[in-house]
Amino acid sequence: MTNYWRMAFRWGNQGTEVWEQCRDQGIAAIGYYFNGEPVVGDCSEIDEKEFYTVWRSKALPSPTRQSSLKHVAYHMDKGDTIYAKEGTQIVGKGTVKSKYKYRPGIVKQKGILWEHYVEVDWDKNFKPFTLNLEANQNTVLKLDTERLDKIHAMESKTNFLYDCVDEIFEENEGEQYIKEAVFRKRNKKIIDKKKKKSDYRCEVCDMNYKEVYGEIGKNYIIAHHIEPIGSRDGSSPTTIDDIALVCSNCHNMIHKKKPPLSIEELSNLINK
Ligand SMILES: [Zn+2]
Ligand SMILES: [Zn+2]
Repeated sequence: MTNYWRMAFRWGNQGTEVWEQCRDQGIAAIGYYFNGEPVVGDCSEIDEKEFYTVWRSKALPSPTRQSSLKHVAYHMDKGDTIYAKEGTQIVGKGTVKSKYKYRPGIVKQKGILWEHYVEVDWDKNFKPFTLNLEANQNTVLKLDTERLDKIHAMESKTNFLYDCVDEIFEENEGEQYIKEAVFRKRNKKIIDKKKKKSDYRCEVCDMNYKEVYGEIGKNYIIAHHIEPIGSRDGSSPTTIDDIALVCSNCHNMIHKKKPPLSIEELSNLINK
């Protein structure tokens, strides 16, 4: 059976760097040193019961540490999935490629020395998201169904959002699209004023949504930002004349050109 894990790669304030090193090395590592020596040596040479005895003999506190190492040494298996945790974020996802391995210093960095690991194929296209699953004291946590459902939900939500953004940018109007969305938000009042004074007709083709689509199209029209040349810094206040009301077809055509066509230019292009 495949298991799902959440694993943190922190060491004091160096957490970030250790995660990046593990990702770059294609491993998930953990380490516990005590008096300059690994607390437990090569776990593949002892079984779980002996492991427990060795750990106890060092009289170390923290059962969560013991179970974290035990998971890596005895419970992780090829095909398992690991989600990498960094603070409140899930920053990585990978598939376990090997059983437990032991090599002191596999992770070596300013005062950090880790020795237990599994090989992992980390997903290069993973999109990080924020998700607090509690149990933050556990370096390695086996994910139950409830936590896994939460992770999967966030994962698909995040992928969906990224896909949407990709789509917008593919159309090559992405930047303009976002700029205009910001403009509309900032100038909502003046846009509403302009709309109320209008008959909700496209200034280019004369189309009115209600006439075509009925009630659902009532009062629908797109506010296009006419950007006067040379005033791109946005220092001059927006006036009603900086807004054109157009249908979505005409709006798309306006932005086919860079800089965008003027209302007059597009009007001259269409057959009325
Ligand atoms: Zn139109
Ligand atoms: Zn526009």
